[in-house]
Amino acid sequence: MPDTNPQFVWVDGKPVAWNDATIHITQVGTAGVSSVFEGIRAYWNADQKKLFVFRLDAHLDRFAQSIRLMRMQQTFSHAQLKNAILELVRANQHAEDAYIRPIAFTEAGMFGSAGGDQGRIVINTQAWQSRLKSGKVNHACFSSWTRISDNVMPPRVKASSNYLNSRLAGEEARRNGYDSALLLNANGKVAEAPGACLMLVRDGKLITPSVTSGILESITRETLLEISREWLGLSVVERDVDRTELYASQEVFLCGTGAEITPIVSVDRLPVGNSEIGPVTKKIESVYHDVVRGIDAQCPEWRTEV
Ligand SMILES: *Cc1c(COP(=O)(O)O)cnc(C)c1O
Repeated sequence: MPDTNPQFVWVDGKPVAWNDATIHITQVGTAGVSSVFEGIRAYWNADQKKLFVFRLDAHLDRFAQSIRLMRMQQTFSHAQLKNAILELVRANQHAEDAYIRPIAFTEAGMFGSAGGDQGRIVINTQAWQSRLKSGKVNHACFSSWTRISDNVMPPRVKASSNYLNSRLAGEEARRNGYDSALLLNANGKVAEAPGACLMLVRDGKLITPSVTSGILESITRETLLEISREWLGLSVVERDVDRTELYASQEVFLCGTGAEITPIVSVDRLPVGNSEIGPVTKKIESVYHDVVRGIDAQCPEWRTEV
C-alpha cells in the first residue's frame, strides 16, 4: 500500500483534490451498508512504458450488475465510467502497478431504503505493486465462520457489507497464526477465501467450487479457467468441493484481483503437496503474469491501455 496519496479522486462525475473528497460523518453507516464496489488492477509494462488496466470491461459490467441488484439507479454509463477511470489514472500519473476502486453508494434514507435511490459514485486509485512471481505463499485454515449465502447476503454482489463475514474469518485466521481463512458454505462445501476464490489441483485436474457455492463470481477465476482450458489444455472442473479434498490435493491456490495468484502451501497445518509452489500453479501464474502486463500479446481485449 502506498505512503503518498494520489492527487485526485473522481466524485460523481469530476476529479476532486484528495483532501476535498469527503463525506459527512453521519453518513458512515448508511453509505457503508449500501455500497458496492470493484477492485481493478492496472499493470505496468516497463519495456513498453505502458500501463494496462486488466479486464476493465468485465469489472464495469459486474459493477453495473451490483448496482442494479441492489436497486440503486445507474447514474453513469459503462462508457462514461470507463473514460473516467482512464482519465483518473492519467491524472494521478501512475507509471507503476496500480489499483482502481469504483464505489457506488447511497446516502439517502435509513439502512433499509436503498431501493431506487440515486447512487453516488466515487473512484479512487493507488499504487499497488503486483506480487505475481514473487514466491509469496500462504498458510490457510478453515474458518469456524460460515460463508454468507445467496438468500442472506448474496456473495455474487460485490458489496462492502459482505466483508463483515470476510473480516470475521480473516481476523480469526490471523489471530491463530495463519495467513488466510477458507470458508465453508451453509451446505458444508468449500466456498472461497474472505476476498479471493480458490482452486485446487488433484491428479492433474484443476478444480474449483462452482458459482452456486456461495462465491463472488470472480473475474480472475473466469480468466484462469479460460487460460487453463484453452491455452494450457488442462482439464478444468467446476463443482462442489469437500474440505478434505484440499487435504488430498497436490496444489491449492487463491485467485482474485487483489490476491492475484496466491499459492497455499498448508491447510489446517497439513502440508499441501510438498509444501512448495506446485508446477501447475507455477505455469498458470507465469502465463497470467505475462498476459496482464501485455508481455504476451494474446487476448488484447482483456487489456485497456491507459
Ligand atoms: C473481489 C472478490 C473476489 C475476487 O474477484 P475478482 O473479480 O477476481 O477480483 C473473490 N471473492 C470475494 C469475496 C471478492 O470480494
